[in-house]
Amino acid sequence: MTQSVRTTCPYCGVGCGIRAGSSGAGVQIAGDPAHPANFGALCSKGSALGDTVGLEERLLYPQILGRRASWDEALAHVAEGFATVIRQHGPDAVAFYISGQLLTEDYYVANKLMKGFIGSANIDTNSRLCMASAVAGHRRAFGGDLVPGCYEDLTLADVVVLIGSNTAWCHPVLFRRIAQEKERRPQLQLVVIDPRRTTTAASADLHLPVRSGSDVFLFNGLLTWLRRHGKVNTGFVNGHTTGVAAALDVAEVSAPDIEAVARACGIEARKIEEFYRLFADNERVVTAFSQGVNQSSAGTDKVNSIINCHLLTGRIGRPGMGPFSLTGQPNAMGGREVGGMANLLAAHTELENPAHRALVQQFWGSPRLASRPGLKAVDLFEAVHAGRIKAIWIMATNPVVSLPDAERVKAALQKCDFVAVSDCVARTDTTALAHVLLPAAAWGEKDGTVTNSERRISRQRAFLSRPAEVQPDWWIVCQVAQRMGFVEPFSYASPAEIFDEHARLSACENGGTRGFDIGGLAGLEAQEYADLEPVQWPIPRRGHGGTQRLFEDGRFLHPDGRARFVPTPPRMPAGAANEEFPLVLNTGRIRDQWHTMTRTGRSPRLAEHLPEPFVDLHAQDALSLAVRDGELARVSSPLGSIVARVRTSGEIARGALFVPIHWSGVNASQARPGALIHAVVDPISGEPEFKHTAARVAPFPVEWYGFLLTRTAIDITNVTWWATLQGDGFFRYELAGREVPSDWSQWMRQRLGALDSGDDYLDYHDPASGIHRAARLVENRLAACLFVSRRPDLPERSWLAGLFAKDALEAPERVGLLAGRPAGTQKECGPLVCSCFGVGRETLRRLIAQHELTDARQVGARVKAGTNCGSCLPEIRALLAERHRRSLVTSIQEELNPLD
Ligand code: SF4
Repeated sequence: MTQSVRTTCPYCGVGCGIRAGSSGAGVQIAGDPAHPANFGALCSKGSALGDTVGLEERLLYPQILGRRASWDEALAHVAEGFATVIRQHGPDAVAFYISGQLLTEDYYVANKLMKGFIGSANIDTNSRLCMASAVAGHRRAFGGDLVPGCYEDLTLADVVVLIGSNTAWCHPVLFRRIAQEKERRPQLQLVVIDPRRTTTAASADLHLPVRSGSDVFLFNGLLTWLRRHGKVNTGFVNGHTTGVAAALDVAEVSAPDIEAVARACGIEARKIEEFYRLFADNERVVTAFSQGVNQSSAGTDKVNSIINCHLLTGRIGRPGMGPFSLTGQPNAMGGREVGGMANLLAAHTELENPAHRALVQQFWGSPRLASRPGLKAVDLFEAVHAGRIKAIWIMATNPVVSLPDAERVKAALQKCDFVAVSDCVARTDTTALAHVLLPAAAWGEKDGTVTNSERRISRQRAFLSRPAEVQPDWWIVCQVAQRMGFVEPFSYASPAEIFDEHARLSACENGGTRGFDIGGLAGLEAQEYADLEPVQWPIPRRGHGGTQRLFEDGRFLHPDGRARFVPTPPRMPAGAANEEFPLVLNTGRIRDQWHTMTRTGRSPRLAEHLPEPFVDLHAQDALSLAVRDGELARVSSPLGSIVARVRTSGEIARGALFVPIHWSGVNASQARPGALIHAVVDPISGEPEFKHTAARVAPFPVEWYGFLLTRTAIDITNVTWWATLQGDGFFRYELAGREVPSDWSQWMRQRLGALDSGDDYLDYHDPASGIHRAARLVENRLAACLFVSRRPDLPERSWLAGLFAKDALEAPERVGLLAGRPAGTQKECGPLVCSCFGVGRETLRRLIAQHELTDARQVGARVKAGTNCGSCLPEIRALLAERHRRSLVTSIQEELNPLD
């Protein structure tokens, strides 16, 4: 590796430090041992970053209405587009929709332009979809958007409660820290509260599979139970809080006893009691929550019901305890710092506070500062649809896929007068609707700061040169601002200058009245900024080493210094199941993909884990609905439908469904889950309800299933259903069709590519059974293969995929090619489990059985699986447990039938 650069992972809110470099051999990625978020560890997504930085699929030059344009022309066009609308319709007729993927410096200038110079607060962010409820809950309880604790608390705790978080998949490095601590200290108890039996839940000491949306009942019940059992920290409650009586009254009414909670949550009373006792009897409890809590029409109340329990016991601001918001995105926290949401102002000042508005206006020298909150994400796109917003600039996000009621969002952008999109990727569902495309720098080319879930500011540093016509987001925003007439306030020479202004503003008239203060980082020399070490805010003075925990002195940010108990009357989510839509749809992330796959989708090893859109449901529901594992099903809500592969993983309760969020119109034919989700939001935070949509499932009958692996991408959109991903040296298309070609041989030849002399074409057709297989080889090198069957019982793709890495097929491989499996003794690997070392499920099963392995470390010692990022360790443990169960059953059967 050339000299490595210390930077930060661009995916989840753990904010892992990375050492990255590039050389002739490509990009090298390793965890940064010196970074306090991860101490050198990376998950599968972080480890695969090197696969995602190539220039294929990048947006490489500005475009206006699809034609190439110069930067000057494109910037002038955007500035004029916005200025014209503002002149004619006022500042509230324009909007920015930005992203937790932006760096803090990018975020800062976008927010400054919209709120301070355009004079509207119509700037919102995809972080609204992720942690707006946590923000609102923090502000209600603490008087500011403040995360009290730090990652270390998760390893100092005696009880870790994970609620609404599949941490093992969504924050893997943090989960690994907890798991390692549990190995060292087995008495650490892990409680997981989740309707699904996720990989995280499978690792728990206690799993509470609560009914979707019933979390407030559970925590109200806990509040009541703690009081009844004398667990109130009276000194703390009396000295540092207000509102306990009202919160207790509401809790008592809604969750008077364990039986009532058990009924509301749909779980056994004994499990609830076990949880309550664990919480009550252990001083050091951390309750970490994520999207399962936040993404709810009652998300803010859920957050406050959790915080209430920590306030009642005084478990906050001390090591190993406290509520802890696990942030989804890499820089959602940075966006909050700069006030990059429609209801916030910069540096934790408040839009509703006239003194704060005056402060910011003076600091910025603003001609007109927004005087009231703007439109939050869902309302903002509704205003675009209604024509009230006539110009929108979308930066680094893909709302046509990720927002609820995604078809309406698409329609809104289709009819909007002016849509500008800054992105690093050329082809997304959103860039397809842009009038102007602005090519933005990607991870590895960008330079600035991000803040992770524990308030730790880290540097993202460039280690790749930017393509010639690509620019960083801060530069693009400032250039547009200057062309709108705001020259001097946006004349920054570097992100360091923006960061300096951000730091100075945070300290301006602060004096501890606002929690966010990084005045100690103001006035950094360029080199100091370049060398900035990861540090947790607040950092009020120069030389201050950062702040690990907040509220250690029991003082909160409300004017009286006291935290607030918030009464949380339970509300069940909108969109309850009904006769027509009897199931409850939940959505979420999978282990190896990120957002809409524009980046992770480019990594072959990440694509292998769960390679296509699926709907997971209970096996008995599948049976009664006549949908079968491996076949396709249509998932419908009152809004729309998607088609996905049926999966019965055993993780889902009866009456529930789970669909991953990652597939878009670019990588599948009918799989955007946003098209199913109602635009119902939490009334306080504006965060949409992504976890509870009434839905139904029906078979999606097709005449045939198939898959195509090919070295060259092809247009496959003329089949009934398709999903695609990038493999290592090939493209994979999963297919299904309702039309049966009259001549299969011809149909397959067309899709496998024209034959040249010297090419080989192998095929096999069994029309009676509906099986058709063909392969094209160019000079004995596999160019493409296509398998079709009436049933989805097609060969494993992994062995065939491996043949694309070969320059020439060996004789047994040619023999096995149309069988789709190795001839002779070579065994199939099965679907990928360990992305880092390419170890498949069948390989692991055989290994575990053959060597009677009982421990993930033994597996790692033999095939390395699980020894790098550890993201697959929970799945390896599940395979070990599966083998253990089988052995038990066998030995019981032998005991019962000794003569068999
Ligand atoms: Fe990146 Fe994984 Fe760390 Fe999250 S846990 S920051 S995705 S390496």
